[in-house]
Amino acid sequence: MEYCKVFLKPKKEESLLRFHPWVFSGAIQAIEGDPAEGDVVEVYGADHRFLATGHYQIGNIAVRVLSFTPRVIDEAFWTERVQTAYALRKTLRLAGVEGNDTFRLVHGEGDNLPGLVIDMYAHTAVMQAHSVGMHYARHAIAHALRTVMGDASRNIYYKSETTLPFKANLEDENGYLYGGENEEIATENGLRFYVDWQKGQKTGFFVDQRENRGLLERYAPGRSVLNMFCYTGGFSFYAMRGGAKLVHSVDSSAKAIALTRKNVELNFPGDPRHEAYAEDAFKFLREMGDKYDLIILDPPAFAKHKNVLRNALQGYRKLNAIAFEKIRPGGILFTFSCSQVVSKEQFRLAVFSAAAQSGRSVRILHQLTQPADHPVNIYHPEGEYLKGLVLYVE
Ligand code: SAH
Repeated sequence: MEYCKVFLKPKKEESLLRFHPWVFSGAIQAIEGDPAEGDVVEVYGADHRFLATGHYQIGNIAVRVLSFTPRVIDEAFWTERVQTAYALRKTLRLAGVEGNDTFRLVHGEGDNLPGLVIDMYAHTAVMQAHSVGMHYARHAIAHALRTVMGDASRNIYYKSETTLPFKANLEDENGYLYGGENEEIATENGLRFYVDWQKGQKTGFFVDQRENRGLLERYAPGRSVLNMFCYTGGFSFYAMRGGAKLVHSVDSSAKAIALTRKNVELNFPGDPRHEAYAEDAFKFLREMGDKYDLIILDPPAFAKHKNVLRNALQGYRKLNAIAFEKIRPGGILFTFSCSQVVSKEQFRLAVFSAAAQSGRSVRILHQLTQPADHPVNIYHPEGEYLKGLVLYVE
């Protein structure tokens, strides 16, 4: 198959030679042929040396690299990439094991598949395309999933309505590509939860907090826990299994709170230790008093773009300042940022300012990040997005 050719300006091949998987539009000198958005193209240096094969897109990131060697992007390609991703999750003891059927199968650049995310919930794969190329490849990818996983991915739900570039003007349909069984309960580390991939946020659950929830469980015995920004209650059921005295879950979304209640009931029927509140975080935090000695703050990304970074850092500072002010002496704070544009250092600085404002003695116990099923491609450090600190507050 002949692909259109993208030629770079002189000296713009550097990042590709270091395996960074993006070509920015400003680096392009000329294009041979007339590629449509989403087409596979080949990238060449100014000296006409082959550099990469990838998906073409109109916008700042013009090419997302699929391969650094010449190759046809066909069924064999998708099958090989999905196979590699699945094998890694088995190595990680997340797939094909007792007690866990929730994991990220494909994490974009981290799995050498830029623009593609696939999360597994029991036998359902929820697939999200973030690029036009992946949107067009969705049926081929679904087919590869079936080939590699067989019955383990018997339902494949495609959900890209909110993740595809708006201007691409695609029919961004959500729906099943295979199966359609309404299997709604998945298991994470032995805890069960309902997941609503059709109407829920992201792919339906925040798979990236699995290990951090596990760590929280260890700190839970005897503590009064506030799970702020709880979504469907992930941290709450770990806290309960860990032996917390009480657990209060808060989220501004009434739908998330309804699902949190259902999830707690599923794991701990009739347990009076849990209560859930559909309320705004800042309002709740200001009015809550000093009853908690274990607080989780896992807000949505405050900054989705670089130009709102300052406001985001202010937001993290303010949020954490209230927690430092209110948490009981000897309290433990789990605080997170999932904004990709906020670096680990910037986040730490925001939390540091909040601590200083409260005047309390604060020590860092753990520095947290995303789990191994959200791998960071070493050539694409931008893939590291989740940051967390566990703090001991005297
Ligand atoms: N900790 C969760 C994921 C949190 S996602 C988990 O482990 O699954 C962020 C959540 O913050 C979303 O559920 C969103 O509804 C909620 N949220 C956004 N703005 C909020 C606000 N102002 N007050 C309370 N919750 C808010």
